[in-house]
Amino acid sequence: MSNPAQANRLQAQTMIDALATPVLPHFINGAACLSIDGREFANLSPSDGTLLNHTALGSEADIEAASSAAAAAFEGWRGWPAGQRRDLLHAIADRIEQHAEQIALLETADTGQPLRFTGKTAARGAENFRYFADQCGHAADGRSYPTPTHLNYTLREPIGPVGAITPWNMPFMLGTWKIAPALAAGCTVVHKPAEWSPLTATLLARIAFEAGLPAGVLNVVHGLGEGAGTALTQDKRIKAIAFVGGTKTGSRIMAQGAPSLKRVHFELGGKSPVIVFDDADLERALDAVSFMIFSLNGQRCNAGSRLLVQRNIHDQFVERLVKRAATIQVGDPFDPATELGPLIHSQQLAKVSEHCRQAEQAGARLRCGGLPGAAAGLPAGGNWFAPTIVSGVTASMEIAREEVFGPVLAVLPFDDEADALALANDSRFGLSSYLWTRDVGRTHRMARSLQAGMVWVNTEISRHLSTPFGGMKDSGIGRDGGDWSFDFYMETRNVCIALDQHKIPRIGKETKL
Ligand code: NAD
Repeated sequence: MSNPAQANRLQAQTMIDALATPVLPHFINGAACLSIDGREFANLSPSDGTLLNHTALGSEADIEAASSAAAAAFEGWRGWPAGQRRDLLHAIADRIEQHAEQIALLETADTGQPLRFTGKTAARGAENFRYFADQCGHAADGRSYPTPTHLNYTLREPIGPVGAITPWNMPFMLGTWKIAPALAAGCTVVHKPAEWSPLTATLLARIAFEAGLPAGVLNVVHGLGEGAGTALTQDKRIKAIAFVGGTKTGSRIMAQGAPSLKRVHFELGGKSPVIVFDDADLERALDAVSFMIFSLNGQRCNAGSRLLVQRNIHDQFVERLVKRAATIQVGDPFDPATELGPLIHSQQLAKVSEHCRQAEQAGARLRCGGLPGAAAGLPAGGNWFAPTIVSGVTASMEIAREEVFGPVLAVLPFDDEADALALANDSRFGLSSYLWTRDVGRTHRMARSLQAGMVWVNTEISRHLSTPFGGMKDSGIGRDGGDWSFDFYMETRNVCIALDQHKIPRIGKETKL
């Protein structure tokens, strides 16, 4: 074997071949199966454009089969004692950890995310299962709201079979993020993973089934948004849709689900500002700014993609960022040293390139990167794109307004706190805001006024599963994490009991019989 990257790639392909024999199957009612109409689609490597595998192309009929299985399994699964459900979810987490290497290699092959990041995927996925496993015991707990004359108490119960529709940027982690709380709540699930990254979804269902999850509790149907995705959102037996993906798709799903009154939870796009004041710890800010735009190939919903820097430190800070970007190792995602791999798909590469071209045309300056193309030694068929920093951006330019979803940072200067706040909030998105300052009063003032579901102060993203995760404005509806997840996957019911002392209003007159 000539080098570790090559060895890793070969090992990944062997694993893909074992999973897709010869087609990556759906997983319905506890069994791997092909599409009812026999159709399939090609899954291509982001690194060189070659065929990784064929995947079953699900249609309405496959969704029908999966929803039927989820509906049939629901009564049994919801009746499992909480302790037993907890133990099973921990057993799934154990198995995920045992498959860590396989998950990392499959995810790297499928998405182009470097191994240094996908190596942590199984641990994060297992953590999602463990966290919600430990919440099983109180998922159904209600609250008590007494009045002088009545006692009110609430009950929570699983809403029913639910659909999970996920994107391709962190497929395994995002799948577990939706599926673990749904299962912990007592719901059964039909998962429609993204068509550009299907591999680990089938693996997760298989792992869960082998750990003892009953047939039909977790089902996976592969396919396109317009086919399997649409059918899932329209299925009457599916009570709710947990969706992670683009804002436009979220609108479509809401419309598709309206006739059957679907409950929806949306985690959508972002254009999150990182605001760096001149009093910040600039060393740490520099690390965090680079990490939040160039890690995961820049394909992260929470990317800090709009850098707002105080004018008096702007030039120096941007200069240092450009130097830092030049040192980022772009290359084969199977190479353990690689920091930035290829973008997921040639369409994504074209979209990211077009954003940069438009920015330049609008008068912004590409300080580094900005063009597709392979460095020496990398296959020409890969979706390579270098770390890109665009300065001289104004708030009205598209590069400051639209989500690029690639390793592209737009930089805007600001003068003072009011200016920073106005720029930060001048966006239709409201997912995250990152703030770098040592001024405590300013921190609190800005945290109150920034229009974002999450405000991160002097830190990159640092996820604690008990806290609410989600966006406002065009970035989403609803929150994940802690009890917020159960509020979505469960119905809350109220029981009101009189203490038999209050006066009941009387209408009409009593008549003697
Ligand atoms: P996308 O919206 O194109 O696709 C996401 C999923 O929706 C895929 O599985 C797709 O097949 C499915 N889909 C598409 N059309 C559908 C339809 N009409 N009905 C039902 N399902 C349909 O998104 P993407 O390009 O895969 O992912 C990138 C987007 O995801 C970015 O905007 C990113 O910000 C967002 N994202 C958000 C978060 C978050 O937590 N807020 C996390 C990760 C990614």
